[in-house]
Amino acid sequence: MALLSVRDVTLRFGGIVALDEVSFTVAAGTITGLIGPNGAGKTTVFNVVTRLYRPDEGDVLFEGESLLRTPAHRIVRRGIARTFQNLNLFRTMSVLENVLVGAHARGRRVGAREALDTLDYVGLADVAARPASALPYGTQKRVEIARALVAKPRLLLLDEPAGGLNHEEVDELGVFVQRLRDELGLTVLLVEHHMGLVMRISEHVNVLSFGRKIADGTPEQVQADDAVIEAYLGADA
Ligand code: ATP
Repeated sequence: MALLSVRDVTLRFGGIVALDEVSFTVAAGTITGLIGPNGAGKTTVFNVVTRLYRPDEGDVLFEGESLLRTPAHRIVRRGIARTFQNLNLFRTMSVLENVLVGAHARGRRVGAREALDTLDYVGLADVAARPASALPYGTQKRVEIARALVAKPRLLLLDEPAGGLNHEEVDELGVFVQRLRDELGLTVLLVEHHMGLVMRISEHVNVLSFGRKIADGTPEQVQADDAVIEAYLGADA
């Protein structure tokens, strides 16, 4: 069954059609990729699913129920958590404080024990007391994921988690995201420009270009799709 179902969603900003009748589903227990050239509408999809933006048309179903009546501050309690493209950490706060404050800001009170357990799970227990800004960038990105995980979501939206990571860190991230699915039963929707990562870990990939869905399928199908190749070549030209 689809955990998340985006149905014919259209969203306009003035004259810009950021999403144009976009539909796709995310099956429970999968890692699903959402890719497309810059400005294709990927982050806007996250903002619609988390209720920061209201679509002009269409609907978003989570576990079969519309999210459009759920206010943004209740989205975490419905079981959806996200990370952000640019790190959103409080620089002077410790890693632990960041996880606690992050969880609170996302509408869920979390105790220090729970936060420490999450940090332990993601391999950050050793740095719990360190200021977030003192850590290498790759580690800070993991803190950002820990802040989402402490809310115990069923659906995790990851917005460019590989951005700024080196080759080895990207490999580790891929293994880590697969662990989240396999051990925690999490369903993951992954927005990412790092094609190697998306194609390696996603079961299914959706492709947006200029606000429209132009393809979806297995990584192999999408990579061989003419419309996808054209969208990326056009973007580079
Ligand atoms: P990138 O890969 O560069 O992050 P993206 O695929 O995530 O791009 P979006 O950020 O979703 O793309 O943007 C889609 C389109 O909607 C762009 O044309 C963008 O300028 C526009 N857009 C997004 N948010 C707003 C907003 N709040 N106001 C006006 N236009 C917006």
